[in-house]
Amino acid sequence: MDFAVSDTMKHLIKQVRPFIEDELYPLEPAFLQEGFKAVETELHKKREKVKKLGLWLPQIDKEHGGLGLNVLDHALLSAELGKSPVGHYTFNCQAPDAGNMEILIKYGSPEQQETYLKPLLAGEIRSCFGMTEPDFPGSNPVWMGTTAVKDGDDYIINGRKWWTTGGDGAAFAVVMAITNPEADIHFRASQIIVPADTPGFLIEASTPFMGHRGEGWASHSEVRLENCRVPQKNLLGSEGTGFLIAQERLGPGRIHHCMRWIGICERAFDLMCRRAVQRKIAPERSLAMRQFVQGWVAESRAEIDAAKLMVLHAAWCIDRYGAKEARDQIALIKFTVANTMGRVLDRALQVYGGLGVTDYTPLALFYRTERAARIYDGADEVHKISVAKRILRQYAELLGAGE
Ligand SMILES: Cc1cc2nc3c(=O)[nH]c(=O)nc-3n(C[C@H](O)[C@H](O)[C@H](O)COP(=O)(O)OP(=O)(O)OC[C@H]3O[C@@H](n4cnc5c(N)ncnc54)[C@H](O)[C@@H]3O)c2cc1C
Repeated sequence: MDFAVSDTMKHLIKQVRPFIEDELYPLEPAFLQEGFKAVETELHKKREKVKKLGLWLPQIDKEHGGLGLNVLDHALLSAELGKSPVGHYTFNCQAPDAGNMEILIKYGSPEQQETYLKPLLAGEIRSCFGMTEPDFPGSNPVWMGTTAVKDGDDYIINGRKWWTTGGDGAAFAVVMAITNPEADIHFRASQIIVPADTPGFLIEASTPFMGHRGEGWASHSEVRLENCRVPQKNLLGSEGTGFLIAQERLGPGRIHHCMRWIGICERAFDLMCRRAVQRKIAPERSLAMRQFVQGWVAESRAEIDAAKLMVLHAAWCIDRYGAKEARDQIALIKFTVANTMGRVLDRALQVYGGLGVTDYTPLALFYRTERAARIYDGADEVHKISVAKRILRQYAELLGAGE
């Protein structure tokens, strides 16, 4: 039964669901076994179909050629797209491009929008986002080593980044660098657009990730910026606002991730149930007749539904009150859904037995790549600490107790 789904969204989902199943599922075996580049050309044909169906850029406002869905409606759609590992990519709402689009719309100068935003929205180029560094803790991103120093009309950027998702083949990177080292720690960094062909922007490796280096959009780059010179007009927003801008992309971005994970849960659940009823463990006896499996089915259904309701509520809160007011709801879903997904994937994979750990189903890919969901966009512990601190502070104030 659908919850909080408007008639417009019901219609949209009716269009998107068969598209994912009929057009994208058949591409998955090649993607899973041969990699992103094996399906890139086909995916671009599918992208043209998405454009023709009027479903392109669901998260972007109509003025910029998108569907203009609010956070709640995009969350609902994301759960459909997330069922395939290439769903979001095909609709041009994949990380990290979606976040870069959002900040270019909000903070990009007319020239930046013409040069970088327009082709990104059209799906002609890809981009990446370089904040995390190998030598500094991503969990405390205000402490970083990359610097951008003014020289004439330019910045000269030096530093190292890693986990730069989609760096391989990206046309430009949005790089976070310290521009104001004397300022308060939260106002030291800026976001600067660095075209990938700038001398000194060096992709040194794709990071091996659970046994796979990946390629193209489905990979994570290690980048060295060595006396990398870019014009100061490539600054996004004003100097020192790097973290403010980063914060803005994170609220709705976390909803997108969480609903994509709900989509992964639904796909895993569907695969698990199909296998349970079809796999015979003896003549006339299916796995579905075993109580262990029945327990996993019931627990998974309950956990997915609970997680989904939490995400939809958080999305509703963002639409109604803004991301800042909804920060507790956002933090709660980030670690709740990541862990729900881990459990559901684990059970589905177990039901598949040996087949579960092959690349003949998407379960193994989801299982190995999405373990990282508990780490990126804020590790579980960081979100738990921030929510708990706010709750306990309220109790301390209520009871007149110290910190
Ligand atoms: C698949 C993937 C994609 C990514 N994509 C991008 C990208 O496109 N661009 C980008 O800039 N970055 C990206 N990242 C980086 C990601 O944001 C960082 O990995 C994350 O912020 C954690 O930083 P870290 O790896 O340096 O871990 P650390 O900061 O070293 O933390 C290690 C662990 O310490 C624990 N911890 C940290 N702080 C606390 C605390 N206060 N209390 C208790 N425990 C704590 C947590 O368990 C954490 O997992 C990506 C990462 C992954 C895995």
